[in-house]
Amino acid sequence: MTAHAKYPHVFSPLKIGTTEIKNRILMGSMHTGLEDVPDAGERLAAYFTERVRGGVGMIITGGISPHPTGGVGAKLSEPSEVAMHRQVTDAVHTADPAVKICMQILHTGPLAGTPDCVAPSAVRSRIGRYAPRELDEAGIEEQIAAFANCAALARQAGYDGVEIIGSAGYLISTFLVEKTNLRTDKWGGSWENRMRFPVEVVRRVRAAVGPDFLVIFRIAAMDMLQGGMSWDEVVSLARALEAEGVDVISTHFTWHESLVPTIATMVPRAAFTQVTGQLRKELSIPLITSNRINMPDVAEAVLARGDADIVSMARPMLADPDLANKAFEGREDEINTCIACNQACLDHTFTGQMTSCLVNARACRETEISFPRVNTAKRIAVIGAGPAGLAFSTLAAQRGHKVTLFDAASEIGGQFNLAKRIPGKEEFYETLRYFGRMLELRGIDLRLGTRVDADMLAAEGFDEVVVATGIAPRRPPIPGIDHPKAVGYIDVITGRVPVGRKVAIIGAGGIGFDVAELITHEGKSAALDVDIFAREWGIDFKNHPRGGVTGIEPVVASNGREVTLLQRKASSVGKTLGRTTGWTHRLTLQRRGVAMMGGVNYVKIDDDGLHIAVNGKPGLIEADSVIICAGQEPERSLYDALVARGIASTLIGGAFEASELDAKRAIKQASELAAMI
Ligand code: FAD
Ligand code: NAP
Ligand code: SF4
Repeated sequence: MTAHAKYPHVFSPLKIGTTEIKNRILMGSMHTGLEDVPDAGERLAAYFTERVRGGVGMIITGGISPHPTGGVGAKLSEPSEVAMHRQVTDAVHTADPAVKICMQILHTGPLAGTPDCVAPSAVRSRIGRYAPRELDEAGIEEQIAAFANCAALARQAGYDGVEIIGSAGYLISTFLVEKTNLRTDKWGGSWENRMRFPVEVVRRVRAAVGPDFLVIFRIAAMDMLQGGMSWDEVVSLARALEAEGVDVISTHFTWHESLVPTIATMVPRAAFTQVTGQLRKELSIPLITSNRINMPDVAEAVLARGDADIVSMARPMLADPDLANKAFEGREDEINTCIACNQACLDHTFTGQMTSCLVNARACRETEISFPRVNTAKRIAVIGAGPAGLAFSTLAAQRGHKVTLFDAASEIGGQFNLAKRIPGKEEFYETLRYFGRMLELRGIDLRLGTRVDADMLAAEGFDEVVVATGIAPRRPPIPGIDHPKAVGYIDVITGRVPVGRKVAIIGAGGIGFDVAELITHEGKSAALDVDIFAREWGIDFKNHPRGGVTGIEPVVASNGREVTLLQRKASSVGKTLGRTTGWTHRLTLQRRGVAMMGGVNYVKIDDDGLHIAVNGKPGLIEADSVIICAGQEPERSLYDALVARGIASTLIGGAFEASELDAKRAIKQASELAAMI
């Protein structure tokens, strides 16, 4: 077979275990919530086959519990539970018999979120809801047997293999680390004893499934915990698992309770694959690497450097199910890139909502929302080329409608053009590149630099008018709001106004935090440089201290501005930020010395700065600049004019509802309208 010209490593087959995969792109495991719904089989089958048709080489399902204490909704411990899985494996193998699908066995141990959760010792996780019950000897034997039984049932269900997750702070990993394993019997104490549980699980699983069934083990190659596993322990565990018949080692880089971000958008692409590369030198079986590998060139570089044999792309498969085919066919500029925001995937998982994707509202809704061709094309005007207008226009045009997209600005993107300027949000450029290419491909008539008014639309006589004019920043009626020191966030982000050395920021939502990041930032963005990122988060890739972390409070470079971030709510500042990423923003700003204040009343802005009152006590934030990040109001002047002229139109995005609007909601609403117009 001739090698692929551009991605020879990505598109080469690989022998694993007693089978072969057709390329090196693995769709990594994600718990989506689809596993837990009544029609799970049908919905999972639709979700996975869309990715199979998109060219992926192998799939790992979301975690399935081997035991009632396992803590995820879906369980496979009884023969009666096989049928739903059979629906999935049949669909996948019918769509492409060359694609392998392995089921992840996940026992969440102390993170199960129920009072009967179990662990090697009764040590409550920093993020656990309950202290776990310590397993006795019989309980440990029962859990090992449950893993083996689950694997055997997975084989019956038609899977090509299983992945056993032994990382992340879940049951298996808590045996490995001293701080969560306080036992003094043969399951705790020495390293040999602490690694006994995973080794025994693998031994029994292998015995239960036979030699010709893939067994993958996910190991925390760096658990990012102070006092976590040493590098020697990682290597020794991986070798022991290889000896017990594991076919592939998959590397993971964290426990959920770690205070190091490993997949957020501020993490450089492929930041951790070097660790897999180091482990690969110690083993003879293939290794999977992961984390922030979101484009084919990144995957190719990782494989070409010899960091791994297979790359796991999990969230990128939510964002674009056709990623692999697009890369193979040289259509990379058509890839809808995962921007690692976590807003519709992990944030949803951790708040009990169904997973989806900010940039692809169809993800996990494959049986609910689609964009079929229409029989009768309409002429549609869309006003506003922000995320809402872009998503609507491209999807409506995909259906065959004739779309004209207007924007007053000279470029597409709306507020995403502000977001992309924030250090750590460089991925937002990708979304704009994607939409730009889609506008071309779908023949959309794009009219930039055109402020639309009702007369224009009346003159052109469209069949439908969609108003996506976004928002206007709120100017709260604080005395002195017109003082020269008071500036809006748009002027600050675009650099239209200078910012002084002492700054007060009114409003601590997503934009307040982003502005604080921008105005305190020093040097190159850590998201673009692994060394800076490692320094800012206390990671030591070279010396591999326990857990991979130095344990020394990191210093984050700052340009020395004195910034105070304020809100009126008494709740802790930053609480409204994303569930899985908010803490990273809070910690970064705190490390730069940004002060945060809640429960504030704004009294006035004058030459001295911002006067406030907290619990009735007056105070002054001395400031050269007071930046207003106090939320937004819908921009409806065009819509109101259309209503006055009797021209029917539909509002989407910020223009529809500005309160708590984010790009996730804007794109979802736009996609739903495009599906039915
Ligand atoms: P907009 O993006 O506001 O677009 C409206 C467009 O309409 C504009 O381009 C405007 O020029 C055009 N327009 C208005 N009136 C007319 C007219 N009469 N004629 C022609 N054109 C007109 N969201 C997230 O989900 N995650 C984030 O991490 C995130 N970060 C952000 C960071 C910053 C700094 C900012 C400012 C916003 C961020 N957001 C984020 C919010 C997100 O960008 C908005 O929710 C989203 O852009 C709203 O989309 P929209 O299409 O409704 O409106
Ligand atoms: P926001 O998150 O709603 O925050 C607005 C802030 O302004 C709050 O701190 C609010 O706190 C304050 N405020 C509201 N009304 C005020 C008033 N009248 N006077 C003074 N302060 C007032 O909105 P945003 O920061 O403008 O962000 C807009 C959208 O973009 C949000 O939906 C956000 O999710 C999204 N975004 C997301 C990210 C991300 O990383 N995920 C980043 C940026 C933006 P008090 O009412 O307590 O004062
Ligand atoms: Fe990626 Fe964000 Fe979509 Fe999650 S929601 S898959 S992080 S783009």
